[in-house]
Amino acid sequence: MKDSTTLMAMPQAPRDFGFWRDGKWVRGREKAERRSPAHGLPVTLTEKCTLEDLDDTVAVARRAFEDRRWSGLSGAARGTVLLRTADLLRRRRDEIAYWEVLENGKAITQARGEIDHCIACFETAAGAARLLHGDSFNSLGDALFGMVLREPVGVVGLITPWNFPFLILCERVPFILASGCTLVVKPSEVTSATTLILGEILTEAGLPDGVYNVVTGPGRTIGQALTAHPDVDMLSFTGSTAVGRSCVHAAADSNFKKLGLELGGKNPIIVFADSDLEDAADGAAFGVSFNSGQCCVSSSRLIVERSVAAEFEKLLADKMKKIVVGDPLDPATQIGAITTNAQFDTIFGFIERGQAEGATVVTGGKVLDFGRGQYIEPTLFSGVTRNMAIARDEIFGPVLSSFHFDTVDEAIEIANDTVYGLAASLWTKNIDKALTVTRRVRAGRFWVNTIMAGGPEMPLGGFKQSGWGRETGLYGVEEYTQVKSVHIEIGKRSHWVS
Ligand code: NAD
Repeated sequence: MKDSTTLMAMPQAPRDFGFWRDGKWVRGREKAERRSPAHGLPVTLTEKCTLEDLDDTVAVARRAFEDRRWSGLSGAARGTVLLRTADLLRRRRDEIAYWEVLENGKAITQARGEIDHCIACFETAAGAARLLHGDSFNSLGDALFGMVLREPVGVVGLITPWNFPFLILCERVPFILASGCTLVVKPSEVTSATTLILGEILTEAGLPDGVYNVVTGPGRTIGQALTAHPDVDMLSFTGSTAVGRSCVHAAADSNFKKLGLELGGKNPIIVFADSDLEDAADGAAFGVSFNSGQCCVSSSRLIVERSVAAEFEKLLADKMKKIVVGDPLDPATQIGAITTNAQFDTIFGFIERGQAEGATVVTGGKVLDFGRGQYIEPTLFSGVTRNMAIARDEIFGPVLSSFHFDTVDEAIEIANDTVYGLAASLWTKNIDKALTVTRRVRAGRFWVNTIMAGGPEMPLGGFKQSGWGRETGLYGVEEYTQVKSVHIEIGKRSHWVS
């Protein structure tokens, strides 16, 4: 690790945030302190909202929806606010990236790239706001005409996790706003800063007060109450499958609110012997290590053709050893700290369990001690069998388990041997294999000869226990609408009662 004086400075004192309601900061509650996971120093203070704060905030979002101050505008007018937001984000890019690094521990160069993606999300959604449309049926006979209207679903509760606090927010908020809905957002209690900053930016961009609101506090109180709130029309939850399941129960027990769920993954990366093995090794090193593996679409299971398995594992291990782990404020760093103490314990627990169950560490497996912060080496396991915990459970860390196959069918069968279906990556130069595997592996996002590529034009979401619904693109706007069928009679009615 470099001397800290050569890095960007830490804040002199923790930045003190209120929560964001009706276009202004609200303060005065008990404070929660967040320490940088990379430096161990306090960086932010946020409010612990009460359940009464939540009720008041939902009421604000409800009023803003019912009086049509936002949904009543044209798509073009909504798009203009989203484009102005993109401009403001461009100007405040480095500041937002800085707070993201301090609370999350991710590398600064990566964080800046994420803000660029967020800007693209706002620009894409601005176009989508103008393009959102329904349908018509001119096929119902001369006496009847049918229209299908898309209407905003109403007040949306949005709960986000700590791994990509701003990116996941921006893969949802602009698309929700494009649909005409209003929002109450509950970010993770450990990474709330940038979600709060977005409130200030949206207001400056011209978003009417009360349309975007943020409550802060623990998931088990404020988050849980938002999932069960009777006046929230839709809940969009991104996080663990366990909490996703509790959202389904809460929706059923309250008002049957519509749900969007983006949950866990156990994502395969399938490597055929005919692929460019150097490229595939680089893709796998990136896929498992990016964001310290704390990524819902991280590669977690390597499924490699037996004839090249030894060669490939060596290529991959050599790449993984070269990844620069260190202080996230250093621009040379590729991966930073593990975001929470609990996640650090979870990842290291899986590494110990993998060894205890008989798998072999090819590279990594150790904690990196820089004297402060919590870091884990990118880790590759071989000799993994399918009943081991590292083969089945989501680790959410930089740990990859290797399996070998002999036939296309076997590769597909191993890839599908999971309760999850979020993402998959496939490496081959053979078009028949590429299309066969893409069709038969059950995952919401697929990459062929690449990994974690793409933009906000394309939809994202999971199959099986990885979730319900889709975010981003025109799909991501439609997700936050309800469809209304309108039937219009033409001419004189043929009477039922004579
Ligand atoms: P988590 O489920 O613990 O927390 C996510 C959010 O839910 C946080 O804001 C938290 O405060 C809140 N929360 C916690 N308990 C709650 C409850 N009982 N009711 C309502 N809200 C509650 O997940 P995490 O640890 O923050 O994130 C890691 C998990 O998220 C991983 O499983 C990962 O796969 C998943 N994830 C999925 C995606 C995706 O797009 N599919 C993206 C990122 C993370």
